[in-house]
Amino acid sequence: MKKFTVFLFFSLFVTIIVVLCITNNQQLTINNQQEFVDTVEIRKNAKLLTFIDDDGHTSFVDKLLPIIKEKNISISMAIETSRAGTRNYMDWETIRECHEQGAEVLNHSKYHIYSKAESEKRSKDDIRNEMIESIEDLSSNGYEETSDIWVYPGASAGATVTICSKVMRCGINSSGSVVNDYEFIKMHKYGLKRFPICNHMTNTLEDLKGYINQLNETPGWEIWMMHSIYNEMSEDFLNDFRKAIDYCLENNIRIVSVKEALDFYGVINENKN
Ligand SMILES: [Zn+2]
Repeated sequence: MKKFTVFLFFSLFVTIIVVLCITNNQQLTINNQQEFVDTVEIRKNAKLLTFIDDDGHTSFVDKLLPIIKEKNISISMAIETSRAGTRNYMDWETIRECHEQGAEVLNHSKYHIYSKAESEKRSKDDIRNEMIESIEDLSSNGYEETSDIWVYPGASAGATVTICSKVMRCGINSSGSVVNDYEFIKMHKYGLKRFPICNHMTNTLEDLKGYINQLNETPGWEIWMMHSIYNEMSEDFLNDFRKAIDYCLENNIRIVSVKEALDFYGVINENKN
């Protein structure tokens, strides 16, 4: 009889433990599902804007660095690694100073071979080696984290695209056009919109607000591809650009670096290729 009572109590104890475990697990699963749904919603409705300035000219320091400091935002600069420190290009020390203030440092190739015709003349090994060397140049200067974020120096076609898809974390077409190739397909899932700014054209405040409104209407990720070197990036434009940044903040648009945007979307894209 005593044995039976002990057995009964033991069974009851085990049952309670099992029931507790199951309830707890179910709770955990429900919480995870809710968290997943919430995360999807947050990402679907997020409005992200990134500014990328091409080529790493000293004009970045004169025109955009003051705005980075003033507005406390990130502006990315796409660096041609072999030209750093040559005439009109920032040297590594200046790049470091900009980075410390909030500029993101991206890969814009080593030699900037940009035309489609020139690219097609090159061997695949040549293209791959240049990409790897540019990654090494950026890494050895302390930018390993963003060294494989590639901003095309023009030709986003043929072998360059195929090799980029293997060597780089992502490739972004710097001209702002949408092409039916690797980097577009990859970026399309983020609802990526791209606009060339000051690329041999004048952009008024109305233009800029129009680009921002598109993001307001259809949330996603938008990139402005900028060229601070061009005269179109004038004092007048820079004042409008400041107003556009304020307009973003009023409209709940987050100004982010490329890495921040990729990390933001990357976690949820389980089929990330
Ligand atoms: Zn360029």
